[in-house]
Amino acid sequence: MSVAPAGTALAGGADGPRALRPFLDTVLDALTTGAQDRSGPLPPGGPDAVARAVRDACLPLLPEQGAGPHTALRTLVHTLAAGAADPADPHCAAHLHCPPLALATAADLAAGALNPSMDSWDQAPAASELEVLTARALAGLVYPAADQPDALVTTGGTESNQLAVLLAREAPRPPHTTGPLRIVCGANAHHSIHRAAWLLGLPEPLTLPTPDGTLDPATVHTCLAELAGRTGHVLLTATAGTTDAGALDPLPALADLADKHGARFHVDASYGGPLLFSDTHRTALTGLDRAHTVTVDLHKLGWQPVAAGLLAVPTPTTLTPLAHQADYLNADDDTEAGLPDLLGRSLRTTRRPDILKIAVTLKALGRQGLGDLVDRTLTAARTLADLIDAHPGYELHSRPTLTTVLFRPHGADDATLATIRRTLLTEGHAVLGRATTPTGLWLKATLLNPHTQPGDLTTLLKLVEGHTPR
Ligand SMILES: *Cc1c(COP(=O)(O)O)cnc(C)c1O
Repeated sequence: MSVAPAGTALAGGADGPRALRPFLDTVLDALTTGAQDRSGPLPPGGPDAVARAVRDACLPLLPEQGAGPHTALRTLVHTLAAGAADPADPHCAAHLHCPPLALATAADLAAGALNPSMDSWDQAPAASELEVLTARALAGLVYPAADQPDALVTTGGTESNQLAVLLAREAPRPPHTTGPLRIVCGANAHHSIHRAAWLLGLPEPLTLPTPDGTLDPATVHTCLAELAGRTGHVLLTATAGTTDAGALDPLPALADLADKHGARFHVDASYGGPLLFSDTHRTALTGLDRAHTVTVDLHKLGWQPVAAGLLAVPTPTTLTPLAHQADYLNADDDTEAGLPDLLGRSLRTTRRPDILKIAVTLKALGRQGLGDLVDRTLTAARTLADLIDAHPGYELHSRPTLTTVLFRPHGADDATLATIRRTLLTEGHAVLGRATTPTGLWLKATLLNPHTQPGDLTTLLKLVEGHTPR
C-alpha cells in the first residue's frame, strides 16, 4: 500500500490524536499570532481592507496542488484571527455574540474528532444518551415542577422559535376554533417569530405596540379577547430578554392571560434564559415555567461556541408532532428491538453533537459556576450604566435588566450616532451596536464577557467621547 499523502490522516481512532496534535500546535500558534497582529477588538480599515487582506493571504483557495496541511492551517487560521471581531475583547460588545469558554471550545474539538451524528443511535450511541440526559437536566431548570421536562438541541433561538411555532400549529386545537393559528407578539419580539410564521404558512403575527419596550398586559388582554371570539387558535409569544434592550416581558401576567383566553404560550428566553443558573437573578424569570415552550440560547449568556440552542418543553408529549419515520434511520423493528429513535428530536437529519461542549461546561462549572458568570456579567452592565449616569456628557436610556446598556452622548442626533459607531468599527477600536427605540437611535453595548473590568468600561466611554463632535 502506498503512503497516504500529508493532511489525509483521520481524526478518529486511537491514532487520531497523534495526527491531530501537531495540527493543534499550528492552530494554536496561528490563533496567537493572529490576535497579536490584530491588537484590538476587530481589524482596522473596514470591509475593503479586510477583504483585501483575506484575498492576498488566502487565494487561490482551490489550487491544483495543495499547499499542505500546516501551510493551509497557519495561513487561514492566522488570517481569520487577524481579521476577527473577537468577543473576548471587552470592547467587542455589539451583539449577543459571546466569547466562548476555552473549556467548551476544547470539548468542541472532541465533538469534531468523534463526529457522532445525532440522527440515529448507530451513529451516536453514547452521544445520543448524553444529549438526552443533558437536555433533561437543562429542561429541569426551566420547568422545576414538571415530571418529565425535555429539551431539543437546536442551532439557536431562530430554530427554537420556529419549532415552537410549528409545535403550536400542530398541537391539538381547542374545540370550536377556526382558521389558521394566529401568533400574537410584541413589537419587541425577535424577527425570527415573523419569519417562522412566513415559513410555516401562517398569517403575519399580530404585532402589539411596546412603547415602553415590553408587552403591556392590558393591550394583550384586549387582543386575546377579540381573537377568542374569532379564531380561537392563538399562540401568545413573549420575550425574556429583548435583543435590542434586554427587557423582560411581564411573564406571570402574560401567562395568566394566555390561560384565561385559552391561548398557547411561548417564551423566547434566548437571551435571558441563563438567569436560571443564578441564585441572585433567577426570580426575574418567574412565570417562565408556565409556558408551553421555552427558547434558551447558550451561545449568548452561556459562553458556548456557536451553535448551542435549546427548546425546552414541560412534557415529552409536546414533541410528538415531530415524530417522523425514515426506514434507514428508525425502522419499526429496530425501535421495537430497543434502538432509540432520535429522528423526532430535530427537523435536521445529520446533526452535530453540540451537546458535548454544553455538558462539559455544566459538569465543570456546575450551576453555581455558571450562575457566577451570569452575575459577573450583569454586574459589569450595571457598572457601565453607573459610569454613564455619573458622566455629564452621556445620556442613559434605562437601567439595564440584563447586560444591554443603551446610551448616547447628550445632544447627538441619529446621524452622528451612526457615524460614531462606524468610525469606531473602521478604526478597529470598538464594536458597539445600535438600537432604535421610540426615543430615537442609541448606541448599544451588549456585555457578555464575564471578565470585563470597570477600567475596560471607562476606556470604552473615552473612545466614544473621543469620536463625538463638540
Ligand atoms: C438571539 C436571539 C434570537 C435568535 O437566536 P439565534 O441563536 O441567533 O438564532 C431569538 N430571539 C432573541 C430574543 C434573541 O436575542
